[in-house]
Amino acid sequence: PTMGALHAGHLSLVQAARDECDVVAATIFVNPTQFGAGEDLDKYPRQLELDLEKLASESCDLVFAPSASTMYPAGCETKIDVGAVARTLEGESRPTHFAGVATVVMKLLNILPAQFAYFGRKDYQQTLVIQRMVEDLNVPVELRFCPIVRDPDGMAMSSRNAYLSPQERENASQISASLRHASALYQQGERSAEVIRQSILERLAAHDLRVDYVSLVRDGTVEPVQQLDAPSVVLIAARAGKTRLIDNTLLK
Ligand code: AMP
Repeated sequence: PTMGALHAGHLSLVQAARDECDVVAATIFVNPTQFGAGEDLDKYPRQLELDLEKLASESCDLVFAPSASTMYPAGCETKIDVGAVARTLEGESRPTHFAGVATVVMKLLNILPAQFAYFGRKDYQQTLVIQRMVEDLNVPVELRFCPIVRDPDGMAMSSRNAYLSPQERENASQISASLRHASALYQQGERSAEVIRQSILERLAAHDLRVDYVSLVRDGTVEPVQQLDAPSVVLIAARAGKTRLIDNTLLK
């Protein structure tokens, strides 16, 4: 499942599927229900023809790119509430986001039943939400979570990067730079989550980035950690100008 404006991060999911499956399907749908009021639904980049070319060049067999009225005909009301894992972090900043994500992924899997479904670790919490839903609702699919694909400057690829001015882009590259710095601190033996968190906050503030959250959680959960004595994930959500970006890295 994708929202289009495809980049190498999306195509890495197609490649992972290609490696493992006989037939690969992709979906392109800018899902209105996962956008909150005042978010970027209307200006979200849409480039279907170019996306179809990219998918064809990755030998994707089938593309499903429905309209909003196909996915949500008049009277469609059901929503999936995934529970606690969807309420913190992104869920706090975007309270209706994960119900929109879970519902559309469930619908897409019902329309296009798949043996395997591929998601990127870029959206760490989303992987946990989907995993919870698949387990709780006995959805007959095996999930695969793929590594974050980055630009040469380290920035996680995202369709939203297209919104950034050159100056914002330079500032935004400090999100991934601060994650690399966090990894370096960890490799040097730092085990206090708060020390690492503060050092990230300082760096982001120094580059004109407005922080939504910087959080260190136990890997595979959204539980905050104090002491980094087990694999943990550092999560950042921050704004460069009006553009909200997320990124994360595993400390292990
Ligand atoms: P989106 O189009 O943003 O909804 O993303 C569709 C899928 O692509 C999700 O599973 C994302 O996690 C994944 N994805 C987006 N960007 C990246 C990236 N830079 N690296 C790996 N996966 C990504």
